[in-house]
Amino acid sequence: MPRKLAEAVFPEEKSLRRSRKVAISACLLGEHCRYDGATKEDNAVIEMFKGDEIIPFCPEAPVLGTPRERISVIFKNKQYTLIGDESGNNYTQAIEEQVDLLMQKHPDLDLIVLKSKSPSCGLGTTPILNEKRDILVFDDGIAVQRLKEKYPNIRIIDESNIKETIC
Ligand code: SF4
Repeated sequence: MPRKLAEAVFPEEKSLRRSRKVAISACLLGEHCRYDGATKEDNAVIEMFKGDEIIPFCPEAPVLGTPRERISVIFKNKQYTLIGDESGNNYTQAIEEQVDLLMQKHPDLDLIVLKSKSPSCGLGTTPILNEKRDILVFDDGIAVQRLKEKYPNIRIIDESNIKETIC
């Protein structure tokens, strides 16, 4: 990882650099786990965390399989719910459970790097829709909400933050 980026991501250790344990959205690492079976491989992200211990994380694939229907975050009954676009199924709890599983398996994570705009992984970039499917606001996806609510000490960034840090 470039020194300047390391300092930005881990400001508490400007000079000492040791291998970190970093969970990264699996699609950014080249896994074909997106809803349409595609990947979002990002060589810049892979390069940045070379030398760190990487934990691939995709909360959707284990629940819905790949390929799968598209899902959206809907503001309903005064809360955010993760709904299948075709089935209307509510996947909120299942995705939250995937977050809990990650954190149970890896309570010692130093950082989580997530894919922007995803209904699960987005960090302030996920479109939140009303029941008519109009965008109300951009906010956290369901996995990020779970992380912030139950695991407030874990540091979360998204790939677009990393790119801004480099420039
Ligand atoms: S954005 Fe998150 S949920 Fe979507 S494919 Fe990537 S890792 Fe999986």
